[in-house]
Parts: sequence; structure tokens; C-alpha cells
Amino acid sequence: MKHTVRVLLPMPIGNGYDYTVPEGLLAPKGSFVEVSLGKKYVVGVVWGDSDNSVPLNKLKPIGQILNVLPLPKATRDFIDWMANYTVTPKGAVLKMALGSKWRVLTDKDRLSFKPPDPDYHQPELTDAQKQAALKLVNDVKADCFSVTLLDGVTGSGKTEVYCEAIAEALRQGKQVLVLLPEIAMTSALIDRFAERFGERPTEWHSELSDKQRRLNWHAIAQGQARFILGARSALMLPYKDLGLIVVDEEHEAAYKQEEGVIYHGRDMAVVRAHIGKIPIILSSATPSLETLNNVKQGKYKHVVLSERFGRAKMPFISLIDLRKEKMNVREFISAPLFEELKSAFAQGHQAMLFLNRRGYAPLTLCRSCGHRLQCPNCTSWLIEHKKSGKLHCHHCDYSAYQPKACPTCKAENNFAACGPGVERIAEEVKQRLPEVRCAIMASDTLSGPKAAQELIKQMKDRSIDLLIGTQIMTKGYHFPRLTLVGVIDADLGLSGGDPRAAEHTFQLLQQVAGRSGREENAGRALLQTTTPEHPVMQALVKGDRDAFMEAELNERRAYHLPPFTRLANITVTGRDQKQVIIAIQQIASAAPQDSRIRVLGPAPAPFSILRGRYRYRLLVRANKSVVLSQVLSDWVSRIKISRALKLQIDIDPHSFL
Ligand code: ADP
Ligand code: ZN
Repeated sequence: MKHTVRVLLPMPIGNGYDYTVPEGLLAPKGSFVEVSLGKKYVVGVVWGDSDNSVPLNKLKPIGQILNVLPLPKATRDFIDWMANYTVTPKGAVLKMALGSKWRVLTDKDRLSFKPPDPDYHQPELTDAQKQAALKLVNDVKADCFSVTLLDGVTGSGKTEVYCEAIAEALRQGKQVLVLLPEIAMTSALIDRFAERFGERPTEWHSELSDKQRRLNWHAIAQGQARFILGARSALMLPYKDLGLIVVDEEHEAAYKQEEGVIYHGRDMAVVRAHIGKIPIILSSATPSLETLNNVKQGKYKHVVLSERFGRAKMPFISLIDLRKEKMNVREFISAPLFEELKSAFAQGHQAMLFLNRRGYAPLTLCRSCGHRLQCPNCTSWLIEHKKSGKLHCHHCDYSAYQPKACPTCKAENNFAACGPGVERIAEEVKQRLPEVRCAIMASDTLSGPKAAQELIKQMKDRSIDLLIGTQIMTKGYHFPRLTLVGVIDADLGLSGGDPRAAEHTFQLLQQVAGRSGREENAGRALLQTTTPEHPVMQALVKGDRDAFMEAELNERRAYHLPPFTRLANITVTGRDQKQVIIAIQQIASAAPQDSRIRVLGPAPAPFSILRGRYRYRLLVRANKSVVLSQVLSDWVSRIKISRALKLQIDIDPHSFL
């Protein structure tokens, strides 16, 4: 009897193909094997036993087995789980997990990864920190699945505390993964981890060179790399013996991957920990509603740090009611904020101005006829950027110089820039406070982690007085002399139909305020708002997170939203609007008949055209008792749509645009 195996190929088709294994060859599960597919040879991974649906004489034999460590069971189980949950072909998830990083090492590649030292530099913890650390360390010692929310105010020493759990896992010879929502944050943490453990962690994110990625991949598979700091894609690495996962800033929306395989990094991290039977720590000063609800239901443990480390106090947050401020139309910094800035600089302190908008102005319009300059490919305005001197679309790569004449009324040189972006705030500061040294921190003004590192260094050695930036400067940074945070437009995230708008705005503003007063000098945050009575603003001023979150939770319950129900988005996109509409209607009419499932739509998405493609959508809402992935998978498998169209399923959507 010939031996047969199922081989999964890293491509978005099916669940793999069967091959025979030549006599005398061993191809255990997880092995990387070369197989023929049509006229080509491709590399796949032995995934399991064949289902014997194809007669033996029709099967081809596998080719050579590559000299690469087999993909561990936990990694394979994780890929299976993720494919099922996200309603994605397994091969597509394998492709994402592998890319070309696994390529066989050559003699020229030296693997030399020094082990981190768990006791290299252990800080003296405060009593509260010790207590918190002990609980986390005990979870690592217990060596089984557990989820703990490390819930500590900004500057309370969460990083120091979870480092104790990391140290314990390292002492046991295990591997540790720390996940970050954004690459921009890695540089600041790498240095801290290097100080604590004597070695820099092994990085994993999209900015590594191909070679570095390949080396790191193998070092992780062989267990040489013990401490990994990475973006969400690091979850799919072939860990030899993973013993702990830490998800830093667990509430961050950036954990959601919105393209390709759509998944939530934090949620998948919990799944990976469950599969590996290991503890996971979710760390945040402003935990997500979902996580807080899991704590409330007793599913997650809760470790709290309620005070800042040392003599630092929580910043004092106050509101500036913009409706009462008389401001010049081209100025965006109100008099009270301006006075506070001056006084902070006079005392030799540093400040931050926060505005979650890149570029110079979010809208350019014709003064004569009101025509708004719009992206030709997307439902969005063009954003003026002084840095490039062009107008940019923030949704596709379209950019253009400002036209001389208005496309509608032909009036020449009569465009007006409306509203501020960070570049415009910097311009205002330069005009009104010319002696102040300021820098902009936004994703398009930083070329990468190195540039972020440079800026952080300049803040730390005080060659900058004022940092003006978007949300990338709101978390993780510790600037001892920073005492003032000004928020230019606190209402910015509140509009739109996103059910998490209030929660996210609260988290963002709390985080940005938390940058100030982290050492002995007291910090304050001033929020410019036109809705000072809004529950988000009131919760920030009163520092009452728990009441706010409880109210949010009640609202979610009342409106049948997650975490009380499950949601999914089904989106069809394509260049031909008619075709897209027909397809989405076809899907809608095939909806399952189940009283526990409600289908809303079809309707055009708020960004109804993106990159030249029309977008139509169904929103599916189901009772918690429904296995939504299964329902969706059955549902869409009954429908054939044209290859010119793209069907996307987003389980637990976070973006409703
Ligand atoms: P969080 O992550 O909660 O915002 P951090 O871990 O960044 O807080 O800690 C804030 C600052 O206080 C950091 O500079 C950190 O090094 C310092 N710190 C916290 N706890 C201790 C400690 N026990 N000993 C020395 N420094 C500490
Ligand atoms: Zn565009």
C-alpha cells in the first residue's frame, strides 16, 4: 500500500492536494516538500493525511523534501483556525505565513542569536508593581492557557511589570513574543528591552530586509531567537517553544489587518495562546470594551496598576470650549492653549500638540464656486501636503499639483485651504512663536523606525521644544520634560457611523494626555472641543473611565452591537458599478433564513469608490449562538461571482468605511 499525504500549497486555492510518498521517504506533517502542480514545481507543506478521494494511480509523487525544519503543529493548527474563522482559503493563510521567508539557509548565512539574560538589569519594583508582577509570573509558572489584562494608568510601569513575566519565561528556556500595533513604536521599546535583558529582541515586521527576515525566521524555528518583538504577522511564525505572548496597547485599532486576510491581531493572539496552551498578557492604559467585558465575565484575569511610578501624578485634563473662543479664521490654537504653551516653554518644559490629520489642509476648495478638489479614484477629498508641494489622496497613491484654474468655473488662483492638518499647525506655531523648535511626527513625515528613533532622541536630549503629530506619537513614549499636551480638535473622531467612535476617541485622548507629566513636573492636557458636554469629554475631565465604559457597554447592548452580537461585513468591489450591484443583490437574496441572523443592506459603502473600484456592502448581524464563520462560508460558497469582482468578508469588522 502506497503512502499518501495532503499537501497545502501557499496559494489562495482550495485546501491542498494529495500526493503519494515514494517508498523509503519520510514526509511527516509540516515538512516542506516540492510537488508538481500542472507543469510547474512548487513548494508546499505536508498538512495531513489524504482523504483518498482521488484514486491512487491518478496521484503524483512528491518531489524532494527540503532541508527546512517542519512547520510545528501549533503553527499549522493556528493557520487552520484562522482560515476557518476569517472564511479564507487555507492556502491563502499559509501564503501569508510563509511568503518566501522559509527559503533554505545557505552556508553563507551565519545564524548567531545571543540569548537574552533574564537577570541582566532588574529594576527595583514598587510594592504595587511587585504584586502585579507576581501574578503574571505565576501565570507563566502555571504553564497553561490564561488571559490577563494588565490594566495600568499611563506611566505606571506596565512595561517593567510585564518584563518580569518575560524574564520568567526566558528562565524556563521558552520563547516570548511581544506584539506591537505599529512599527513606529518598536524603536523606543527595543532600547528598553535591550537595557533590561542585555540583548536586543529579534524584530519581526515589514521593514526588515528579505535576508534579515529569512534569518530571523529560521532562528525562531530553531529556537535560537528567544525574544521576539513584532507586528501582528509575527503570530504566524514557526516558534519552536513559545511560552508567553504579550500584546502591548491591546486596544489599538491598528491590530486589525484590513487587507488580504482580514483579521484582528489581538484576537488571533489569544487564539494562538490557546492553541499553544500558554499565558497571554494584554496590556493597556485604556483597554478595549471587548476586553473589559471579558474581564467582567470572568473570562480574563485583571491586574491593575492605579498609580504612576515615582513621584509622577496623573495629568490634569481640562477643556477649552471653542464656541466661546474668538479665533482668527486661519488660526487653530486658541488663546488659553497658546498661553499655556508659552508658559511651558518659559519654564524650560516641552509640549506636544496633537491633531489626527496628516498634511496641511484636509480640504481645498474654489473660493468662486465652491468646487472641492477630489480624488479621481476615490470618494475622498484631496489633502494638501506642504512637504511634497502636492495634493494627495490618503486612500490611494494619487497625487497632483494644485491646478491653476478651478476645473468647474475656471477661476484662476482662487483656491482656499480649509481646516488644519499637522503641517498647518506647525506653520502657525512658527508664525506665532518663531523661537520655538518644533518637529512634526506623522507617518508620512517619518521615513521609518530610524527616523522615529531620531525624533525621540531629539525630544529626550531636548533639542526640540514642541512635537506636533498624529496618533503615532500618542503611545509608548516617555519624555521626562514633557508637561503640556494640547489637542487641537478633540471632536475629530466622534463623527461618522462607527459604533466604536466614542470608545476610540476616549482611548486616543487619554493616551495622548498620558504623555505629559511622566516625571516630577506635573502634567496637563488641554482639549479644544466644540462639544464639552459630550460623555467622552466629561469622562476625560472627571477621569472616570469605568463609568464611561459601562455606559458604552449599555449602549452596545441596547443597539444589539458587539460584544453582545456578532457582526460581519460582506463587500463586493469592482470597476463596473452595475456588475457590483447585481452581485451584491445576488448575495443578499441568498441570505440564510434564520431568525437569529439579520442582514442589513445592500448599500454603497461610505467610501463608495476606492482606487477606482465601486464598493457595495451587506452588514450581517447574528446572535452570539450563531457560528457566523460557518454560516458565511456556506452562504458565499453557493454563489459564483465574476472574476472581475472581489468579494471580501470581514468578521468582527472595526472599519465601517
Ligand atoms: P507604562 O507602560 O505603564 O506607561 P512604563 O513602563 O513606560 O509605563 O514606565 C514609565 C516610566 O517609569 C519609564 O521610564 C520606566 O522606566 C519608569 N519606571 C517604572 N517603574 C519603574 C521602576 N520600578 N524602577 C525604575 N523605573 C521605573
Ligand atoms: Zn484616491
